[in-house]
Amino acid sequence: MNYKLFISMLLFTSTILSFEDKKLIFIYNAKSGLVNEMIDFAHKIVSPETYECNLCAISYNTFTKKKRWSDYINSLPIKSVFTYKNKVSFLDKELSNLKFPTILFHNGAELNEIISRNEINNINNINQLISLLNERLDENGMKLKKGKDKNITEQEWGKKLTPEEFHILREKGTEKPFTGEYDKFDKEGMYKCAGCGTELFSSVTKYDSGCGWPAFYEALPDKIEETADNTFGMKRIEITCENCGGHLGHVFNDGPQPSGLRYCVNSISLDFDAEK
Ligand code: FE
Repeated sequence: MNYKLFISMLLFTSTILSFEDKKLIFIYNAKSGLVNEMIDFAHKIVSPETYECNLCAISYNTFTKKKRWSDYINSLPIKSVFTYKNKVSFLDKELSNLKFPTILFHNGAELNEIISRNEINNINNINQLISLLNERLDENGMKLKKGKDKNITEQEWGKKLTPEEFHILREKGTEKPFTGEYDKFDKEGMYKCAGCGTELFSSVTKYDSGCGWPAFYEALPDKIEETADNTFGMKRIEITCENCGGHLGHVFNDGPQPSGLRYCVNSISLDFDAEK
């Protein structure tokens, strides 16, 4: 082995295995090219076996959410490393049994696979990938920061929100149907909680349900809390913002495929950010 190569391998090994901090390691199933950007990884990880085909599907739909993926990675309280299988296959005998691509978690002491190749191949979009990552990080003791705005008092909300927002978000009010700003609204972008600014829904999942309120068939992963709501003699599921507890609306089982769900949301509970 040439001396320089040996040194670079050694350096690489140390960057992967000798750190004490917790780290997420994404190993891409590639033989050549550059994969320094997390976006590039998200792009290809979905199904490396049918890369070209997935590239078509993902490019025109989920992969347009580059910012969502990079924002997610940057929001994690741990560092992420993106690399190739041919750069790590020599590292460790245990690693040699892994099928690539894979996602590993280093907890400071040991390295474990948290999402396998088979699971990665069954992931169809970025939201699913993020949801699974959140779940596995949680299982591995990485409590992701949640609900940071739940300690704000109602008095403080009263100062922060308009009277209409306060009534809907904090007093669980409902705006009159067919009156909301985002009911008949089809611009591309992200819908955020009007209370705390957390992104909740993507315009990709918005549809015209005809019910008089903005409707989505899917929420962004881990952003919405569901609670049984038996008021007004009805059995409904209330949806609230996971971060601030603000009332958004309800979720019903009469939505379109693929989810069959209808997240029926007050426009007043939402702010809209156009796609940049
Ligand atoms: Fe919120």
